[in-house]
Amino acid sequence: MKLDLSGRVALVTGGGRGIGRAVALALATAGASVTVNFHTSATAAEETVAAVRAAGGTAHLAQADVADAQQVDALVRELLANHKRLDILVNNAGITRDALLMRMKDEEFDQVLHTNLRGVFVCTRAVLRQMSKQRSGRIINIASVIGQLGNVGQANYAAAKAGILGFTKTTAREMASRGITANAVAPGFIETEMTATLGEETRQTILARIPLARFAQPAEVANLVCFLASDAAAYITGQTINVDGGMVME
Ligand code: NAP
Repeated sequence: MKLDLSGRVALVTGGGRGIGRAVALALATAGASVTVNFHTSATAAEETVAAVRAAGGTAHLAQADVADAQQVDALVRELLANHKRLDILVNNAGITRDALLMRMKDEEFDQVLHTNLRGVFVCTRAVLRQMSKQRSGRIINIASVIGQLGNVGQANYAAAKAGILGFTKTTAREMASRGITANAVAPGFIETEMTATLGEETRQTILARIPLARFAQPAEVANLVCFLASDAAAYITGQTINVDGGMVME
């Protein structure tokens, strides 16, 4: 199956590095024109855009904090002024502030909920009017197995990621009549800066819980995102699909 996204316009939040970079590259390689959002990592985002262009694709940079409605609305206004349409939103931006529950500070809880959950709400709301007008759209939210399983030291992150699953189902129900689908992708453990800080002992403990016995590459998440963004996935909405080496089996 060849996925063709030519003529489509995509916005990837946190697209400068990690999974977001792989998603931006994959969407652009399939033919989409991709806006790469970043917050603090301008150089990494510039490298992503350069990599897309070197591969023959089209990409643009756009700075915004995903949880800041003014910044996000301005970004979407500018994107629409340039491209006249918006077909794909990938809500990928995310952070961790790990601490055991008894020691977790208010700020650690709030920061993670703010970026990882409010950010998804703010960005989704910002694109719905245009997608409704088009009577088509694809919203793909990057959740996590941690939202399904919980994890020691990640109450904030697990709550935000579980929240994304309910948010995705509601988006799917509210927007189905407008031809807009919404799905969540739940990665397991992926080789990015987010997991690079794990100690060797933790890594081994995690590996023991993964049937495929390895961490994934960001491109393996991007492949699923590309599929969900394509016409081939037109009848899939409100779902959570795992890319986790078999960690979660329903
Ligand atoms: P990463 O390498 O740490 O990258 C995080 C990305 O999020 C960066 O591009 C960062 O942009 C962006 N970001 C953070 N706060 C932002 C904000 N306020 N506004 C806009 N962008 C913001 O992480 P990753 O591993 O690629 O993770 C990407 C997504 O996958 C996250 O939602 C994460 O929770 C999820 N996930 C990751 C794994 C994993 O094993 N790595 C597993 C499950 C789910 P700047 O650098 O420009 O700030």
